[in-house]
Formats: sequence, C-alpha cells, structure tokens
Amino acid sequence: MSGLVIDAARCVGCRRCEKACATAGIVVEGRLAHATEGCVLCGACVDACPVGAIHIERGSAADEGDLAAWSGIWVFAEQDAGQVLPVAFELLGKARELAAARGCTVTAVLGQGCGGPVDGALTLAACADRVILAQDERLAERDASVYAPWIAQLAEEMRPEIILYGATPFGRELAPGVAVRLRTGLTADCTVLEIDPETGLLQQTRPAFGGNLMATIECPAHRPQMATVRPGVFAAMARTRSQLRAEDMPRQLVRGLLARMEAAKVDPRLEPQVAVVEKRRADEGASIAEAPVLVVAGRGIGSKKNLALVRRLAELLGGEVGCTRPLVEMGWLEYRHQVGQTGVSVAPKLLVALGVSGAIQHLAGIGGAQTVVAVNEDADAPLMGAAAYAVQADCVAFARELIARLEARAG
Ligand SMILES: Cc1cc2nc3c(=O)[nH]c(=O)nc-3n(C[C@H](O)[C@H](O)[C@H](O)COP(=O)(O)OP(=O)(O)OC[C@H]3O[C@@H](n4cnc5c(N)ncnc54)[C@H](O)[C@@H]3O)c2cc1C
Repeated sequence: MSGLVIDAARCVGCRRCEKACATAGIVVEGRLAHATEGCVLCGACVDACPVGAIHIERGSAADEGDLAAWSGIWVFAEQDAGQVLPVAFELLGKARELAAARGCTVTAVLGQGCGGPVDGALTLAACADRVILAQDERLAERDASVYAPWIAQLAEEMRPEIILYGATPFGRELAPGVAVRLRTGLTADCTVLEIDPETGLLQQTRPAFGGNLMATIECPAHRPQMATVRPGVFAAMARTRSQLRAEDMPRQLVRGLLARMEAAKVDPRLEPQVAVVEKRRADEGASIAEAPVLVVAGRGIGSKKNLALVRRLAELLGGEVGCTRPLVEMGWLEYRHQVGQTGVSVAPKLLVALGVSGAIQHLAGIGGAQTVVAVNEDADAPLMGAAAYAVQADCVAFARELIARLEARAG
C-alpha cells in the first residue's frame, strides 16, 4: 500500500506541512500531523518538514524487484462497426517510437465478436510486432464490464510495461477500469509521450490546472504504465490511414501477418453487464479530427458573417472548418468545430489559422498538424511563432484574396 507516513516521535507540530499542502491532504491536530483523504502523495509536505518526520511509502502491485519482468508496449485497438479506429494507428506510430527508445516490442490488442472481420487485425499486424486477438461474442459490444477484466487479466499474465488507449468515450471508460484492477496509475489525455533516457520510465505530459501549465507525470512503482491520448494528437503511421483489405493483399503477405497473431480467451465466468437494445448513429457531420485540411477561424475574423469566407476557403481547399473556443461560446459555430484542449485534437496535413492567437489550450489540440499557416495582424501572437508559415496580414482580406485565386485557378 502507498501512503504518507508520519513519525510521531519526530513531528513537532510546526504546521509547515499543512501550509505546503495544496490539497488539504495533511492537517496538524494536537501538535501531531496526520494525513487526510485529500492526500495525493505529491511530496510537498515531505520537502517542507524541517525535522524529516514525513516520508512516503510507495507500495506496488508489481513490487520493486519485479518491475523488470514487465516489458513491451501494448496499444488497445478499438473497433467500431468492424473498422479499427484511426486513433489505434496513431498510437501504434507513437508506440513504435517509444519501443525504439526502450528496445522492446509493440503489441496491438483487439477484441471482436465471433467471426469478426479479419482486415482490421491484418492492418494492425502490419504496424505491430504482434496482435493479441480475442474473438468472443461478449466482446462484440464495447462493454467495459467485459473488456476491462479481460485486458487486466491479459496484462497480469503477459506483463506489458506500457498500455496506451485512445481517449474516445469508450477508451475513457475502459482504461480506468483496467487501472483499478491492476492497481496502477493512468494519465488521461496526454499530448506528449516520451521515454526518459535515464530511468526508462514513460513520461506522460498533459495540460494541467486549466491548461496553464504542462505536467509531466511518471508512474515509477507500478506496472503497467498507462495513458490515454485523444484522437488526432499523434500522426498515424503513413500506410495505415485506412484499413488494409485481405483480398487486395498477396497471399504470402497475409500469411506473414497472420503469423503475428496470437489468439486470446476471455474468462468464461465473465458476464456482460450491458445489453444493447438499439443503436442510433448521431448525425454529427464530418469530423474535424480526421480532416486532411482544416481552416480554423479565431476571434480575429471579426464577425459571424465572415464565417462564409472561412467555409468557402475550406471547401476550395477540400477541408473542414474548425474554430477556437470563443467562437463556440459566442454561438457562431457548434462545439464539434472547436479545436483544442477542451475541443477536438486535430492532425490535418494543412491547417490554415485565420485570426487565431494560439493560446496554450488551443495549441494543445493542433500538435498533430503537419503544416500550419497562421494569418494574424500581430507578428508576436504565439501561433505565429509555432507556424511553418506566418503571414502578418488582415485575415479577412487574406481569405478573400486566396479564395479569388483558388476560384480563378479552378476556372
Ligand atoms: C480551461 C480552458 C480550456 C480552454 N480550451 C480551449 C480550447 O479547447 N480551444 C481553444 O481554442 N481555446 C480554449 N480555451 C480558450 C483559450 O485560452 C483562448 O482564450 C482562445 O483559444 C483564444 O481564441 P482566439 O485565438 O480566437 O482569440 P484571441 O486570443 O482573442 O485572439 C484573436 C487573434 O486574432 C488576431 N486578430 C485580430 N484581428 C485580426 C485581423 N483582422 N486579422 C488577423 N488577425 C487578427 C489578434 O491579433 C489575436 O492574435 C480554453 C481556456 C481555458 C481556461
């Protein structure tokens, strides 16, 4: 068990620990400090104590000597209607980089109903060293009450060092369920994942405190290290933007990919807790998360009527319209267009930002964009520094001019 340990013989009741604690996780009563439920084991009180009366005891599901037994990186591959979601390929691309730094293998984990389509599994096999595939009717629906114990049991048996999940609605439900069962940590909505070259630990970076700072989180004493990442944060592996089709592949290649698959079973005692009565697909329009080109409108476009220009430019460039949060708050565009930390993470090949300042919460959502063109009157706006092309100009005039030229070219 982890916990805060206070040496009563040393504690002088000076209250420095209480003052240093940001979460009311320690209080002093009767000249003796004691931990409360608010304690998050951040260590601020340990540093503040002048008499060395406090230390943190870190227990572990995997005890210290056992950590080396956990190796390899797993990516949970979520499917919808027989298609592996693009976020799985984005995570596999990142997992490959991490595996190169860590010197380990990459495994994709896929569950599906009996006789599910093989194309998704083959595509995963093209990107990973191994695919763990379970075909079981109980995995046909995305039911975390089945998936979480299934993955936890697999992880206990096979001991991966890292598991990555897409921060989709299902991934957000599943990953905590696995974390609780394995008694390990989980960092949600990471925007950067790296391996610390000295410790080999996964460094999981995400916006914290309302996006005002970036926090890098490690999980030193528990395994597996687990993180969720929103769709669009990382670029997908080039050849896997879409699923391969077995019928289009040479037989030898299919055989090679099938050899990377390992069948897994689901505990026969597991019973689904969710019954799907009816499915309705929400009509959400095109998703900006997967748009190859995005024209993003910021407050600098000045008025709602200028959105017509933004839409026309997006249309001519073959893309979609995104926006910053103020435009959603003003009711100019729906939430599904919002790019950023509390909106959608995007990864277009080309992103044209019109009158966008580039606040940290906005930048958190565009890390996967390949080429950013920022148009802003203010040369010092943060996005101008982060863009491949920074155009200091009136964004409305710029949009009009570009539309005219594209229309003239289209004839
Ligand atoms: C917890 C939290 C979460 C948030 N999440 C998000 C999020 O997910 N996404 C998001 O976008 N924001 C988010 N925000 C808001 C964010 O902090 C910024 O306020 C927002 O991104 C700014 O939007 P903007 O760039 O459109 O507006 P502004 O910051 O007002 O910038 C407008 C820019 O337009 C330029 N400009 C003005 N007129 C012109 C012109 N005629 N031509 C060219 N340039 C011009 C200005 O120089 C300026 O740089 C969040 C904030 C918080 C606190």
